[in-house]
Amino acid sequence: MLIAGNWKMNGDPNTLGEFGKMIARAPEAAHNGVTLIVCPPAILTAKCAERATVSPLEIGGQDCHPEPNGAHTGDIAAEMLAACGATTVIVGHSERRADHGEDDALVAAKATAAQRAGLRAIVCVGETEAERDAGNAETVVNGQLAGSLPETLDPARLVVAYEPVWAIGTGRTPSTDDVAAMHAAIRKTLDARFPGAAVPILYGGSVKPSNAAELLAVPEVGGALIGGASLKADDFLAIALAAVKN
Ligand code: PEP
Repeated sequence: MLIAGNWKMNGDPNTLGEFGKMIARAPEAAHNGVTLIVCPPAILTAKCAERATVSPLEIGGQDCHPEPNGAHTGDIAAEMLAACGATTVIVGHSERRADHGEDDALVAAKATAAQRAGLRAIVCVGETEAERDAGNAETVVNGQLAGSLPETLDPARLVVAYEPVWAIGTGRTPSTDDVAAMHAAIRKTLDARFPGAAVPILYGGSVKPSNAAELLAVPEVGGALIGGASLKADDFLAIALAAVKN
């Protein structure tokens, strides 16, 4: 199982107390076959990676630019994240898609860039509430997968995160039946696109210690992408320990 925390725009070099606890306790989960990743804001990648060298905790980025360098003010290349010690980068998060107008083609270019730099790419997909209510959730997610995952990607360094937009940061989650149905649909698409590969499919959206065991036990759920609950070491590690039991 893979448990990844997305700190979003939270944290600075003076507020890494919770991170220290995560480093200290990561072996409990990691020694039981769970891959644990924390994705802090880019300003903390190097500092967190340096502190995590004593721990199985991996560090990831939250986004990357498609190009390896150049005149792109404010952007971060995948190569920069890798040079700072990251192993992973999230691309296509719904907040990037909504706040920055990122479309599937750009997400595909970012996923390609991530792997060019040697990183694992976590590609996010998920429907809005209106799309689900209209009965279009699977169509929307399949379209995002088709557009965001070029066949040239290496499935060994690819992870897909299913994150219903309406479940992110709201405290609401789909039923386990709905998660199972969507993950089965994603698996079918991935099997057709990358035959024989076991690309992990994470669930994301309001995962917390109280619902982690139930969500992680759903067939084809290979871990979780966690926002709010990844800011507190106790919550993040409780979710990771729920993954150990699955
Ligand atoms: C996310 O933003 O990827 C996420 C899953 O957030 P939260 O856990 O806070 O819903």
